[in-house]
Amino acid sequence: MQQYNNRTILHVDLNSFFATSEQQANPYLRGKPVGIIKARGRTCVIAASVQAKKFGVRTGTTTYEAKKLCPAIILVEADFDKYADITYRFIKICKTYSPLCEVFSLDECFIDVTESEKFFPRLPRKPNLEESTWMEMGKSLRGVADGGNVFNIAFEIKDRLRAEIGDYMTCSIGVSYNKLLAKLAGEQIKPDGLFWITDDNAIAVLDKSELMDVCGIGWGLSGHLRKLGIGSFPQLRSKSLAFLHKHFGPWWSVHLYNTARGIDGSSVNSFLSLEEAKSVGRTYTTHRNLYKKEEVRRLMRNLCEEAAAKARAMNLAGRYVGVVLRGGEESRYGHFTLKEYIDDGKKFFDLCLQITREWTLPYVRFCGVTLGMLTKSEYLTAPLFPGELRRRKLVAALDAINNRFGDYTIYPSQLLGTSIIRPEVNGYFGDRAYRLKIMVR
Ligand SMILES: [Mg+2]
Repeated sequence: MQQYNNRTILHVDLNSFFATSEQQANPYLRGKPVGIIKARGRTCVIAASVQAKKFGVRTGTTTYEAKKLCPAIILVEADFDKYADITYRFIKICKTYSPLCEVFSLDECFIDVTESEKFFPRLPRKPNLEESTWMEMGKSLRGVADGGNVFNIAFEIKDRLRAEIGDYMTCSIGVSYNKLLAKLAGEQIKPDGLFWITDDNAIAVLDKSELMDVCGIGWGLSGHLRKLGIGSFPQLRSKSLAFLHKHFGPWWSVHLYNTARGIDGSSVNSFLSLEEAKSVGRTYTTHRNLYKKEEVRRLMRNLCEEAAAKARAMNLAGRYVGVVLRGGEESRYGHFTLKEYIDDGKKFFDLCLQITREWTLPYVRFCGVTLGMLTKSEYLTAPLFPGELRRRKLVAALDAINNRFGDYTIYPSQLLGTSIIRPEVNGYFGDRAYRLKIMVR
């Protein structure tokens, strides 16, 4: 554990990612309050620009509320392809500094430069922004005086973001000796910050932070802590391990005890060594109630095709099929465990159809499908019958076309005339890691 507490780790976080991406693409939006919505007609802001945040608009604010808080706000429909493209270029930049580069979300990376920082000696030139505006490191400027290669890397990343992605792209960078503190350091100055947490200021920074500022302490845990009279880091630190063990069990007690002291033993995991997904799935909430069975079937087919394509892209196949439908107050869930593994959207859909056949719901507003118990496709038995082989060849050909020309260039005729639901890039990766692996390789 200890070995990860004297690493040199950077946490790089693009500022107001979705909104800044839009401002980068459209200069008219720069300097203005912008709210990103998922699609026209959606009532929730999923991201806000730096300027909109000043008015109190944030992720989850309804558009109605947002307009009340900030009448000048410009609502822009999300363009996930644009964001994925920027993520791709962002990761390409980050991974040049170390093979240990962990993609934490679409706009966040951890880079462990302990072994590689020596290759980035101090630059002869000054970075083009005032260093002092970036650095708020208390009295601790030791690293800079000593050569501080890690800061050269940080400045270079900032410069390259502007040069290679766009002049409006900024990031906040945190530097520290473990992941927990690197992320916390990155939170300190936004936008365009650089903050260093060392042995000398770690406890002070923790103590002026909220418990929930730290990754891993969510609403539930913080509520539990509060009930025990623990509302701050000094209070958490004053509790013994035995006390924490009694209330939080063996794992969380140690985690909390260490977190209060800025100790974190987790390593930076290269995204190329990410664990394989255990299941793939897709859920969708419709804009209106679906009353017709055919409409529900088409939606289900659409989602099955996406989830199955995702499995195939990862070279995985599954034998657990689950489906959920919701409408109004009612909700149904059903699943099958098969004897053989499948990765074909049509088969997946046929099974979902079987599961849902007898269900009665007044209407459908939400649908989710899951393909689980995944295994590597290479372990599959070869198709035995000519029809099966033909089907597999057909699916491979469809994948080749869609990978080259874009998702749903070619699709099942059942979806003709529907507005196709496309894969979506989430803030957090989950089972999307595969796409990154393919992109950045
Ligand atoms: Mg961010």
